[in-house]
Amino acid sequence: MSFDLWQNGWCQAAEKCASPNFGQRPAQAHIDLIVVHSISLPPGEYGTQAVQKLFTNQLNWDAHPYFQSIRGLEVSAHFFIERNGKVWQFVSCNDRAWHAGTSAYRGRSNCNDDSIGIELEGLEGQSFETAQYESLVQLMKALGQHYPIAHIAGHEHIAPGRKKDPGPGFDWPLLQENVAWPPQYFPEI
Ligand SMILES: [Zn+2]
Repeated sequence: MSFDLWQNGWCQAAEKCASPNFGQRPAQAHIDLIVVHSISLPPGEYGTQAVQKLFTNQLNWDAHPYFQSIRGLEVSAHFFIERNGKVWQFVSCNDRAWHAGTSAYRGRSNCNDDSIGIELEGLEGQSFETAQYESLVQLMKALGQHYPIAHIAGHEHIAPGRKKDPGPGFDWPLLQENVAWPPQYFPEI
C-alpha cells in the first residue's frame, strides 16, 4: 500500500496496532522533528512481537528475565519498523506518543510534544537492514508531505548521556543520501 495515503495522522501503508499510551499534543504544536530510535525485545532478538506487546501494555513481564527491568513501563512510538521492513503504527501522528522522555533539541525541550518517533528493530551498536532503510526513507518522505519536518535526530541526540539509540551502527549518511533532504536537517556526525 502507498505511503502517500493518510487518514487522521495514520499512514495507510503501516499495520495499525493502536496503543493507549498517548496524549494530546499542545495546541499549535509545530511538528518539525523526527526522532529515530532502536529497540528489540528481548534485546537482540527479532520478530518476537514483544515490542508490539510493550507498546500496547500487553507484554507478559514474567515471560523473560529482561522484562523484569522494564516491568510496568508505559511507552509508545508512532512507528516501529521490523527487520524485514514491515511498518507498524501505534499512535496517530497528530497525537503525542511517549518515546522521547526527558529531552531537548533545536532549542526546545519535551520533544514528545512536537516530534514523530520511529523505532527501528535493532540493537545499539549493531547495523540495520536495507529493508529497514527503504521503509524509513519512504515513511520520512511521506511525513515530509504532511508535517513541516525540518529536523531528524536520534534519541541519542535529543537525550545525550541518557540514551544511546540508534547508536553507531545506524548509517546517517546513507539515510541522508536516500531521503535527499538538506544536510542541515540531520545531526552533526
Ligand atoms: Zn529511544
